[in-house]
Amino acid sequence: MKQLLLYCRAGFEKECAAEIQDKASLYQVFGFCKLTANSAYVIFEAYDAETLANFYRDYDFNQFIFIRQWCLLVAPLLELPGADRIAPVLEAALGAELGSIGELRVEFAQTNEGKTLSTLARKFTVPLRQALRQAGIMLQKEQKRAPVLHLFLLSGQQAYLGVSYPENNSPLENGILRLKFPNEAPSRSTLKLEEAFIEFIPRHEWDKRLAPGMLAVDLGACPGGWTYQLVKRSMMVTAIDNGPMAESLMQTGQVKHLMVDGFKYEPQKKNVYWLVCDMIEQPQRVADRIAEWIIKGWCQESIFNLKLPMKRRYETVQDVLEKFENKLLQADIKYQLRVKHLYHDREEVTVLVRNVVMR
Ligand code: SAM
Repeated sequence: MKQLLLYCRAGFEKECAAEIQDKASLYQVFGFCKLTANSAYVIFEAYDAETLANFYRDYDFNQFIFIRQWCLLVAPLLELPGADRIAPVLEAALGAELGSIGELRVEFAQTNEGKTLSTLARKFTVPLRQALRQAGIMLQKEQKRAPVLHLFLLSGQQAYLGVSYPENNSPLENGILRLKFPNEAPSRSTLKLEEAFIEFIPRHEWDKRLAPGMLAVDLGACPGGWTYQLVKRSMMVTAIDNGPMAESLMQTGQVKHLMVDGFKYEPQKKNVYWLVCDMIEQPQRVADRIAEWIIKGWCQESIFNLKLPMKRRYETVQDVLEKFENKLLQADIKYQLRVKHLYHDREEVTVLVRNVVMR
C-alpha cells in the first residue's frame, strides 16, 4: 500500500497536497500528489510503502488542517459494472488481506457532482456490508475500534477502496460534520463556532470549558451568530462591532454591545474565559492580537478565524502560525493549539488556542 486518499473541501486540493507533502516529509516519506482542481480529494503516492505505513500509524490525524479524512488505498481504482458492483469490491478486499473490518463507509467527494452519488452510496451500503460479512472480511457486528473500510465512489462505475484506523482517522462519514442551522440564530456563521466546539473540545470537558456563567468577548460579532452560541450556553458576552447586533440577542440581557475597534478593545478585568473572533482582516493581524490577549492573560481560551482569500493558503497559515507560536513560546506560555479547515469554513481556517496553565 503506497497511496493515501485524502479528502478536502473542493477548491482546496493544492492546500491538501502541500500539507501532505510537508508533513510526510517530516517522517522521511517522499512521494508525489495526483490531483484534479475542484475534485475535493487528492491521492498521495509514496515511493516507499514501509515508511508510508509508519507515517500513517504515527502522525496524529488531528494535526492536519486541510485534510478532512485519510485512508490507505488497498487496490488500484476499481471498475464497478452496474450489473454487479459487489464482486470487484470483495475481490479487492480479499486480495488486500485486511483483517477484520469493523465498519463500512460508502463515501463520495464533496462536490456538486459527487453529491449526486449520495443515494447510490446509501443504497449500496447494506448489500455490500452483508456481502463483506458473508465473505468473512467484516465482523458480524459493527465494531467502532476495528479498521474502517472506505469505498470512495468517483461515479457509479468507479471507486477507490481504502482502509483507516479509528484511533487515527475522522470518525465522520465523508470526514464532515453536518449541523442543523438553528432558526433563531442571526447568521449561518453560527455553525462555524458550533462545529469548532464539537471538533476541538471533547464532550466530557464541556462542563468545565463551556460552562454557564463564563464571560466571553466576541470580536467582530455582528449580527451575532457566534454570540448566539455563547448565549445559548448561558455565558455573558461582550460583543464588539460597529454594526448592529440582532435584537433577539440583546433582549436576553446576556449581551453588552460595544461599538469600538476590535483591535483596540481591552477588557477591564482578567476574568474573561473565552475570546472569539471572526473579524475579516489580515490573518497575521488577527493572530497577533489574539496572541496579545493570551500573553496578557486577558482570556484563557480563544477560537478565531484566519481568513485566506490569497493564493498560497497553506503557506500563509503555516507562516502565521509559526509567528503566533513563537510569540507564545517567548512569553513562556504553555498552550494547546488546534487548527482546522472546518466543514462550515469557506476561505478560512479556524484556530483554537488554550492557555493550559490557568492563572
Ligand atoms: N461572527 C459573526 C456572526 O456569526 O454573525 C459574523 C462576523 S462578520 C464575518 C465580520 C464582522 O467583523 C463584521 O460585522 C465587521 O463589522 C466586523 N469587523 C471587521 N473589522 C472590525 C474591527 N476592526 N473591529 C470590530 N469589528 C470588526
